[in-house]
Amino acid sequence: MDEPELVDQTDPETVFTALSDSSRIEILQALREIGGTATFSELREAVGTRDSGKFNYHLDKLVGQFVTRTDAGYELTQAGKQIHGAIEAGAYTVTATIEPIELTTPCPVCGGSRTLSYADETVTVDCDSCAAVAAFGVPPSVFADCDREAIPDIAGRYLRTTFRKITSGFCPFCDGPIEPTVRPISEAFDGHLEDTGNDLAAQPDDIPHVEYDCTQCGATPTGGLGLVCFDHPAVVSFYYDRGVDVQEESIWNVIGFPPDRQTIRATDPLEAAVSYTADGESITVVVDETLDVVAIEQ
Ligand SMILES: [Zn+2]
Ligand SMILES: [Zn+2]
Repeated sequence: MDEPELVDQTDPETVFTALSDSSRIEILQALREIGGTATFSELREAVGTRDSGKFNYHLDKLVGQFVTRTDAGYELTQAGKQIHGAIEAGAYTVTATIEPIELTTPCPVCGGSRTLSYADETVTVDCDSCAAVAAFGVPPSVFADCDREAIPDIAGRYLRTTFRKITSGFCPFCDGPIEPTVRPISEAFDGHLEDTGNDLAAQPDDIPHVEYDCTQCGATPTGGLGLVCFDHPAVVSFYYDRGVDVQEESIWNVIGFPPDRQTIRATDPLEAAVSYTADGESITVVVDETLDVVAIEQ
């Protein structure tokens, strides 16, 4: 099958210029509220612009990229729905900070206590006693109307959802295709974390880490092998047979997986393994450099 041909319709500057007027944002919001197709006059009434010519001018700027015009009227394109969602998510309009919260589950690496904090739209979980750290982007809307005690659980569920998207092959930032590479954690973080004061680069060379590369936007999200393989069917059924539903299991038990349960077994070609335990038994998932599962050991 031929690859679908993707054509750049509009350059990024034109896209953002199209949104540079509050009337246009109001049009997107009105279309979202109407929830389907709206005629010109319905839309103008919803936005509340008296001047028909001015309204038409602004609407015209959105047609093509964010709004589509049919015989029945106007509706949002997929990009229009997404940009409206992004505005609602607060990513571009609000800032939120949460006072640090101590997690109830201990650090899986050293048993120390961990603190979750939120600033600059990033959740960071630090261990008080070792270098284990997790940092990931979360839009402020995720925490809308939630109690402080619920924040670690909600942040964890959001991270899981993001990782399901990543492990299904989609970039969390642009939805483009991403490719995983399994590498030693020291290499994956080499240079990336210098500014944060963490020394993950100083960790042993035999701890595996997964780095994803987006071929479209160049983002490189990373995750521990323990987190990435947690939803593998063999792992899910291993836990299920022992009365544990991994869907209900706190993500914080898997983040910062203990070094003694994940290892790089061979380097050329690379082979890495991660083990999960329950009821005194364990299951080990063995992967190659491209994250293909090469063996399940039980
Ligand atoms: Zn620790
Ligand atoms: Zn991307």
